[in-house]
Parts: sequence; C-alpha cells; structure tokens
Amino acid sequence: MANMFYEKDCNIQVLDGKTVAIIGYGSQGHAHALNLKDSGVNVVVGLRKGSKSWPKAEKDGFTVMTVAEAAKAGDIVMILINDEVQGEVYAAEIAPHLTTGKALAFAHGFAIRFKQITPPADVDVFLAAPKGPGHTVRGQYMAGKGVPSLVAVEQNATGKAMDIALAYIAGIGGGRAGVLETTMTEETETDLFGEQTVLCGGVVDLMRCGFEVLVEAGYSPESAYFECIHELKLIIDLVNKAGIAGMNYSVSDTAEYGEYVSGPRVLPAEETKERMRAVLADIQSGKFAENWIKEHKAGRPLFNERRAALEKHPMEIVGKELRENMLWKNDSDLDTASN
Ligand code: NAD
Ligand code: MG
Repeated sequence: MANMFYEKDCNIQVLDGKTVAIIGYGSQGHAHALNLKDSGVNVVVGLRKGSKSWPKAEKDGFTVMTVAEAAKAGDIVMILINDEVQGEVYAAEIAPHLTTGKALAFAHGFAIRFKQITPPADVDVFLAAPKGPGHTVRGQYMAGKGVPSLVAVEQNATGKAMDIALAYIAGIGGGRAGVLETTMTEETETDLFGEQTVLCGGVVDLMRCGFEVLVEAGYSPESAYFECIHELKLIIDLVNKAGIAGMNYSVSDTAEYGEYVSGPRVLPAEETKERMRAVLADIQSGKFAENWIKEHKAGRPLFNERRAALEKHPMEIVGKELRENMLWKNDSDLDTASN
C-alpha cells in the first residue's frame, strides 16, 4: 500500500519564520497563496511586470513583486506558471536566487521529469500537487475541507524536505483530505497519460464521435448534445459517489445491458489498450514533452488551429445555446481568472 499522510502527520509550524514565494497567480497560484495566507503563512507573489494578475493579487492582500524578486525573497519557491514556460523563466529569473538550503516546489513534475529544469544539488525539491483545479482547492479550503493531494520529494538537501512539503500541503488544506506519497516521475507520467487518454483526450473524442454519429444520422443536434455530452456529468457524478456498480444501479437495466454488449464494440479493449500503450510510450520517452515544447516555441500552430476548429463545431454551438437557457447557468465554478 502506498504511504498516506493526514493533518496529524503535518506540522505547519515548520513554516514559521519562512517566506513562501508563489510564482504565478492563475488557477493554482491564487488558491495556494490565499490558503497559505489564511493558514498563517508568510506569502509573497511573483509575477511579470504588466501582468493582469498583479492588481488582483494586491487586492487579495499580497505583496507582489517580479519573479526574480520573489525568488530572492522566498525560502520556498513554488512554481505555478504554465509548464511549457517554466524552463525559460527558471533559468532567467529563479535559478540565480536559489541559494543553499532553499526549497523549489512544483504542483506538477513536468519541468523536472523532462529536464526543463535541473535544480542545484544544495536545494530541496518537492511536489505538492492538489488533485483538483485551483478554484476547488480554494473553495474546499474555505468550506473547512481540502482536496486530496500528492507529495513527492525529488531532492532532500536539508534532510527536512518531506516535513516542509507536508507543512506546505497542510497550509493549502490538503492534509484534511489525505496526502498520497508518490514520485515526480510517477505523478508526471500518470497525469499526462490520464489527461490524454481518458479525461480530456479520450472523453472529448468519445463525446464528439457520439454527437456526430447522431447528427449525421439525421437526429437533432439538441438531442445529440443532451444524450452524448450533457448527460456525461450525471453519469460521472454517480460513479464518483458510488462506483460503477452504483451508477449501474441508478440507470435502467436496459442501459446496463447496453453497456455490457455495446461498450466493447465501440472500444475494443485490446486494440484500445494497445493504442493507449503507444501514447504512454511517447510520454515515457519524452517525445510528447519535446513535441509540446516545440509546438509552443513555434507559436502553437496546431494548438491554435484545433482550438479555433472546436469553437466552430456544432456541438459547441448548440451546447452554448442550451446551457445559456439553463436556470443554473450562473453557478459555474469554472476558472475565470487569467493573467
Ligand atoms: P494557469 O494558466 O491558470 O496560470 C498560470 C499563471 O502563470 C498565470 O498567472 C500567468 O500569468 C503566469 N505566467 C505564464 N507565463 C508566465 C511567464 N513567462 N512569467 C511569469 N508568469 C507567467 O496555470 P495553472 O493551471 O494554475 O497551472 C500552474 C501549475 O499547476 C502547472 O504546473 C500545472 O501543471 C499545475 N497544476 C494545475 C492544475 C489545474 O487543475 N489547473 C492541477 C494540478 C496542477
Ligand atoms: Mg491531471
């Protein structure tokens, strides 16, 4: 069994007298900064000059400075900017200020695992990764709860890296839900695999194919949207609450029978798994990371083209119309923050 930690295993006093520099004030950044501050930790925020988040972080009560100034001020430097730019920003603004005994922290291991960043040997390096979007990390904390989190120590220069990492996670509320010990390699590779094959990649393509098949067969886009896209959340909520058998209990026996006979026709297990293994191999070899950084540096031609095409897809157009007429349209907890 993997190692789990809870609030009782975390001593937040380890952070007494230390300053945490939060680099970036997006989805994760604002949540970590605010939760740590409310937990009594001394926090500064590091941003680009001219960043739209600058006045926002100041309004939230933080001392805001440039990334370099924050890296200098922080004993613990948490990097919460986009994964694909972390390498450049680290080299230019953070590395010069990482003096002996400081800690460098991440919420995702991408830059370390794919060697965009190679920290000096005399600093601690750890992962403190809530398994949820930043707005949930903040919302749960304010509700007295927390988001389950991952912890990993990649480098233990001070001998206290795990204590510091657990104190940090307790400060953002993760100890209330449970902290799973992992490695940065495992976290990075499983995270990329999950989002590419199941959570984002797999599910979006499944919804789109279902929508297109119905519309191409002459059914209305509204019916196709409700069936193949809107209802997914209702099903997943049941799975989250009661497992797959619990979900099956709530749907009709007809639906459950259809699941058993038609699911494998749509996703033949061996073939699908073979394709998933190929995606995993590209993640493990670093090919995916290399392609993504190359794409980013070239001005994101494929990324921008796909994003623009998706915007024009009928499932998005009809979905937007339908959602606008739903009575709870203002309940959205989606990320509205940006730089
Ligand atoms: P985000 O896009 O919401 O925010 C990124 C922030 O970085 C913004 O404030 C932006 O202004 C700033 N930024 C971008 N480029 C910069 C630069 N060159 N210099 C200075 N600042 C710059 O990102 P996020 O989703 O909060 O992700 C941050 C980290 O957290 C990533 O490592 C990500 O993998 C990880 N993470 C995210 C989630 C999530 O659900 N969003 C969950 C777990 C871990
Ligand atoms: Mg993920």
